[in-house]
Amino acid sequence: MSPQPPELDRRHFLAAGLPLVGGVLLADDDPLADPESPPAGRTRTLRIAHFCDVHLQPEKQAVGGLSAALRHAQEHFSPDLVLNGGDQVMDVMSADRSRSTRLFELWRSVMKDECSLPMLNVIGNHDVYGWNSAKHGVTPSDQGYGKRWAMEVFDLASPYYVVDRGGWRIIVLDSTHPVEGGGGYTARLDQAQFEWLERTLASTPSDRPVLVASHIPILAACTFLDGDNEQSGDWRVPGAWMHIDARRIKDLFLRHPGVRLCVSGHVHLADVVQYLGVTYACNHAVCGAWWDGPRDEFPPAYAIIDLYSDGTFTNRIVDWGWRA
Ligand SMILES: [Zn+2]
Repeated sequence: MSPQPPELDRRHFLAAGLPLVGGVLLADDDPLADPESPPAGRTRTLRIAHFCDVHLQPEKQAVGGLSAALRHAQEHFSPDLVLNGGDQVMDVMSADRSRSTRLFELWRSVMKDECSLPMLNVIGNHDVYGWNSAKHGVTPSDQGYGKRWAMEVFDLASPYYVVDRGGWRIIVLDSTHPVEGGGGYTARLDQAQFEWLERTLASTPSDRPVLVASHIPILAACTFLDGDNEQSGDWRVPGAWMHIDARRIKDLFLRHPGVRLCVSGHVHLADVVQYLGVTYACNHAVCGAWWDGPRDEFPPAYAIIDLYSDGTFTNRIVDWGWRA
């Protein structure tokens, strides 16, 4: 059976050129003018506020910016939950323990004060403690090393997991893995996680649509324009920017037509790619260019993802009006 063509929200593409009214994108024919009215003939079963790449820090205006974005999302859209898409803090991968403690405590405190909604958390590369902190004396035996600290702060039993909400299955992946034999990280699923994903999809009822959330995009076009990637005369997209195992994940999704939408962040540029019946949305960074304004053409923004009972969805970008 071939999958239903995924429904794309054309507003996503129009976001950059639309007028802003109170931070909500509006156009003449845009139902966002009344965001509580779903398109005719289908029932919205879940509304998610997707907050990617917050990069929270005590510096700049990060605390005020995140607080304003959370208030804006809750006031204008009444989401059912917040999906924190990774890189919640800036940054514990290269920081010492004292700075990392400060960042995670800041995250806890802002979310406690400003977010009254249930949350799902994705672990981003900047949330992984200590991999580049040997210079600060951090070692793998230290408490919280790697993803353990983030799992504690984000209340996760595993760095990847599955939940069912609103008739959909939501699969949260862990993209960040160390480069074998070298420093840094590569975006991929290790073998255990890939086999878990295979089993999870195999056991998903055929009538249950699937949303996949990863921090680093599985497949994205914007990665090509992140820097001077064509300078050598060939396109070069590092494995730290887009899943290096995209091919085998694509092959797996092809066997499971229930997979409709994959959302990510990480690039701080945004796009929507449709490939073999799956829509891959790489959404804006809440911090834009690390709280210094827009990243290229992309201002700080979060996304509102509406999931419907018939397996369709919308993914719209919301610029809540924050400027550096
Ligand atoms: Zn990232």
